[in-house]
Amino acid sequence: MKPMTRLCGSIAAGSVNKSNWRRLRKFSTAGAFEEALCLKSGVGSMPPVSWNGGCLCGSCRYTVNGKPSHVGYCHCSMCRRATGGPFAVLVRVESQIVEWSRVPASYRSSPIAMRGFCPTCGTPLYLQYDDDSRIRLLVGTVDQPDNFVPQSHYGVEGRLKWIDCNAGLPVEETTETW
Ligand SMILES: [Zn+2]
Ligand SMILES: [Zn+2]
Repeated sequence: MKPMTRLCGSIAAGSVNKSNWRRLRKFSTAGAFEEALCLKSGVGSMPPVSWNGGCLCGSCRYTVNGKPSHVGYCHCSMCRRATGGPFAVLVRVESQIVEWSRVPASYRSSPIAMRGFCPTCGTPLYLQYDDDSRIRLLVGTVDQPDNFVPQSHYGVEGRLKWIDCNAGLPVEETTETW
């Protein structure tokens, strides 16, 4: 059987190491330039060491004690369905530095990942791959989302044609299979 395309892949799931970035930069040097502009203008300054977020009803609140290792768009169709939005913006952090006021409910969205949500109001809260120590919080649940500036686009083969945001950032198509 031909393996299905895995949505939400290597950049979202993997580490953004030097060679990764070099590869991504090939797609767009303007991305780095825009990023520099953002930093210079103070838009999206790095998040504080400790920050908070939560769901719509407020029963699932979280505190993160540390900085994210990556922030990125995901345009895959699973993230679209799971968020009910045109794309997801995922904030990747070590799960051990996240403290929950109430443990979210979770849904197995694929053979390789779970998605957390508030059991009361249904707000999507995170994506976590199996055997991954990190979770990816949905940026819309962060209290100060302006501080979390996306660094790349993932799953761009699924990007909606009318989406017009951060076009200069590095892009990557979904590459993983399961
Ligand atoms: Zn995705
Ligand atoms: Zn809630």
